[in-house]
Amino acid sequence: MIGELLPASNFLSSIKSRAFFVFLRVGVASSLLMSAGLASHLLLESNREVISHAYEIRSIVSTFLRLDKPSFSGDAALLSRYRLQHNDDLKEGINYILVLDSEGRIVKSSRPAWNRLLIADPMLARSESDDSQFRAIRNCFIENTSNSAICFKNHIGFYLPFAGSFTLALPVKFILNDRGLRQDNHLVVINFDPSITSSGFATDLLLIALFSFVFLGLVFLALAFALYSRLAPVLRRFIDIDNLTGLLNRRACMDMGMRLLSHGEANQVPYVLGILDLDNFKAINDAYGHQCGDFVLQEAAAILRKSLYGNDDLLARLGGEEFFVIAQCSSAHGLIMMDRLRAAVEQQLIQWQGRQIKLTVSIGVVSSEHFGYNLNHLYAQADAALYRAKEMGRNRVCSSSSVQDNVLYNPWSPGKAWADSFSHHFEPGSESDS
Ligand code: GH3
Ligand code: MG
Ligand code: MG
Repeated sequence: MIGELLPASNFLSSIKSRAFFVFLRVGVASSLLMSAGLASHLLLESNREVISHAYEIRSIVSTFLRLDKPSFSGDAALLSRYRLQHNDDLKEGINYILVLDSEGRIVKSSRPAWNRLLIADPMLARSESDDSQFRAIRNCFIENTSNSAICFKNHIGFYLPFAGSFTLALPVKFILNDRGLRQDNHLVVINFDPSITSSGFATDLLLIALFSFVFLGLVFLALAFALYSRLAPVLRRFIDIDNLTGLLNRRACMDMGMRLLSHGEANQVPYVLGILDLDNFKAINDAYGHQCGDFVLQEAAAILRKSLYGNDDLLARLGGEEFFVIAQCSSAHGLIMMDRLRAAVEQQLIQWQGRQIKLTVSIGVVSSEHFGYNLNHLYAQADAALYRAKEMGRNRVCSSSSVQDNVLYNPWSPGKAWADSFSHHFEPGSESDS
């Protein structure tokens, strides 16, 4: 039957495309979230790296001072790692190192010109005006000397790879030789150049973003595929199938009818449409109850399904006790087929709780050969023909035809109505033609 052969209905495709956009949005949002997470991890890692540099430098500085070598030129091999050569601007990673005493005076500096200056000195303030960490350290000494104690705790801020420079200050106690052998609080101030870790930061960010998009893209694609392949059949059944008879419902049938007709128009193949309405069905409901009515509808659907031979025939329940058939055939063959359906319903008695119920159906039929391929137009014509079939006494096939309108019935032998008016080749009683 056509329901299984045709691709998903328009409705299902619209759900598919909506689901696609939902997944796309969720995917992009998650990728951004993942990139942000990985980027902050990267930032924290680079901060940790800078801070560990700072601790390392502090221990080097304190070692040298304790060893009575209050000069940064002492061990070139060790310090060359940080490019701490005296009289030289420090390069690649560290701009300068200062050692402050508790009054904020620079007791040692990698920039000899700064030696003995106060950290609050306007000259330093000017050159470091952009560095917020440096300002914070300096302010400790300017505002109130008692506040300077705060600066002797760890003064570690958050390093941003795109800032101009970045200062860390770490407390250190050492014996100062030129003031006698005494321990004193000092602060080692290290100013980093962002290039220490930011050189690869931009490329790392780009790689992170790319990785997130590819990784989550694949995850969401797999998820969407798994979900769709599992849900689609269930959803399709739920959406397209009439749950009483198991036939296609009205919406699905109209969707598919439209596709069939446009296919027919494109390939110039004729289609026949029939509306089938059970006769006096209300009386069955009234006499035996709705349960019986439902059972009769199921039986009628089964009879119609059995009597349709064509693989490409579409059978649906329009609603109530009305059914719909679209078949690819000529108008003459269409009439033969519709009458076969009518006869099949008439011939099969339906058994319900020991009773035998006789059922008949009236059919309005129309062909694209006479009315073209517009589904609404064909439907209206078939409906009008059905109305005539009812008027003529039911249990018959009536057809709308621009050629032989209104005369395609025989009130005495409704089953042969089409034979007289439509087909010259048809031999009444021989259904092998169909
Ligand atoms: P006609 O020959 O003119 O078509 O008469 P009819 O009685 O078949 O048509 P009518 O439109 O008067 O009544 C249709 C009835 O079908 C009315 C409604 O209660 C019944 N019906 C519609 N859907 C269902 C259903 O799903 N189950 C049952 N049991 N009855 C239904
Ligand atoms: Mg009806
Ligand atoms: Mg009816």
